[in-house]
Amino acid sequence: MTMPKYVAIAIDGPAGAGKTTQAKLLAKALGYTYVDTGALYRTLALHKVLAGQSDACLNYDSFPVVEELLDTAQITFGYNGQTDQRVYLNGRDVTNEIRTPEISAMASRLSAIPAVRAHLLDMQRNEALSGNVVMEGRDIGTVVLPDAQHKFYLTADPLIRAYRRGKEMREAEQTFDPVDLVKGIMERDYNDSHRETAPLKIAKGACVVDCSELTIKETTRTLLAIIALNNQPEA
Ligand code: C5P
Repeated sequence: MTMPKYVAIAIDGPAGAGKTTQAKLLAKALGYTYVDTGALYRTLALHKVLAGQSDACLNYDSFPVVEELLDTAQITFGYNGQTDQRVYLNGRDVTNEIRTPEISAMASRLSAIPAVRAHLLDMQRNEALSGNVVMEGRDIGTVVLPDAQHKFYLTADPLIRAYRRGKEMREAEQTFDPVDLVKGIMERDYNDSHRETAPLKIAKGACVVDCSELTIKETTRTLLAIIALNNQPEA
């Protein structure tokens, strides 16, 4: 049997479950590279906004329109250390710009288009070919890296996820409407898990961790303990 060259940890789960926080903490603890795949979908959504296409004027079923969107967006990753991933759109750092509720909702709709997912697949897989990674998203354990050595499905109660997201936004001095926040999370949950291509679901062999009642530290400890257990040779 040929052993994989690098280790991949896949973390999937719904919006606001803490995947980013946990993926970064694991990457730091293990010395792996952190890969946020949602940034790719968000950057495409930003590209759409910059191209002056509101949601209403992008016909999601029109192949030429989607192709043009994909052809004109050159998306690349860069790193300041292993856990500070930067994302560039046509050479411009858009890492902070893509974190708005509007972009979140558009990314969710764009991500349901099969041509969009196919377009971004190789880029995600290539990241795992160049070193050990902790990769987070919605389809990492199911589609992008089905052979990942460690797979997690990180989840939490939707209201707790909305509360945590609101706290983050308050800390970042972003304004938001709490009702819209809850609605946005629920809509994304629905869209992400009901789309036909690569829906959000628990990957085969994934360990489900519900962190509704766990602190950040407790969740990290749980994930690290599971990784250590997985690494133990079978008796
Ligand atoms: O993880 P994040 O909230 O940044 O992702 C934004 C959107 O991108 C998600 O709501 C989801 O629709 C989409 N996404 C995806 N597959 C991934 C990562 C993100 O469909 N692997």
